[in-house]
Amino acid sequence: VKKNGKNGYRFYSSDLNNKLQDRIELEAHLRKALAANEFFLHYQPQVRAANNELIGVEALVRWQHPSRGVISPGVFIPIAEETGIIYELGTWVLREACRQMKEWHMAGGPRIPISVNLSSQQFHQANLGAHIHSILEETGLEPQYLELEITESMMMDPAVSNSILSELSEYGIRLSLDDFGTGYSSLSYLKLLPVQKLKIDRSFIRDITENPNDKAIVATIVSMAKHLNMDVIAEGIETKEQLDILMDNDCQKIQGYYYSKPLPAKELEALFFASREK
Ligand code: C2E
Ligand code: CA
Ligand code: CA
Ligand code: CA
Repeated sequence: VKKNGKNGYRFYSSDLNNKLQDRIELEAHLRKALAANEFFLHYQPQVRAANNELIGVEALVRWQHPSRGVISPGVFIPIAEETGIIYELGTWVLREACRQMKEWHMAGGPRIPISVNLSSQQFHQANLGAHIHSILEETGLEPQYLELEITESMMMDPAVSNSILSELSEYGIRLSLDDFGTGYSSLSYLKLLPVQKLKIDRSFIRDITENPNDKAIVATIVSMAKHLNMDVIAEGIETKEQLDILMDNDCQKIQGYYYSKPLPAKELEALFFASREK
């Protein structure tokens, strides 16, 4: 700490202190961001490769910071988790995603589900099942049109219990295992969990055209999903070459830049609901 004539004590501008300072500022601001309406959602299409049909969208949160521009969730979700802000933020995301999908349904858009990412922290919330159910009632979205994405690594958290997942599932809400293949847990839990879908992680797709191991892993996940009677989707598809390999391996459901980046609601409507009467 260095004495500064005008402003009192200040940190030396070492890298670590800069990062700390940055983090402290973000955290302080994050607390006010919800009330200031600075969060918004983008929607990334999920497509059936055979006919380019839109089969779902994933809601992805962004933060419009007043001075720093748009901040990505990779930066602020971890801070929101550590500070407990994730409860309110997660509720906002769920409500906004359900509201938007209901609005699209009402406007004659395709009857597709919306996928929402959950943080393991949200499972520490009391009555998560009843809470999500009340959001569905409030927004009017039928439960089968909400898909919750949980990650394999979240299974390590005892709060993410089979009973809460079963409760969600009994409401008719769908569950999907995100980033599948990147966790270290045993596969035996797959047959125990009320999860209907596996989402193949982007890390297996990135080099799939050159890396036979990645290709083998993807083929194995797809075939395992089939045998377990689960749905499967691949994320992070960016090129035609990657798409062709996925299709050759019987993975029909695709999410990735090849089709579209995550889009603002209006842009998604313009691109994908074009045939709808205005
Ligand atoms: P995720 O759930 O695995 O989401 C996919 C991420 O990959 C998104 O990044 C998306 O923009 C990006 N992506 C999609 N297609 C491609 C592609 O073809 N190539 C590449 N390179 N990237 C692609 P994003 O939006 O920055 O989100 C990052 C992570 O932040 C998400 O990873 C998710 O874990 C978390 N996240 C986002 N929104 C929420 C939210 O509302 N709640 C919670 N708890 N987490 C969220
Ligand atoms: Ca996800
Ligand atoms: Ca993912
Ligand atoms: Ca991820």
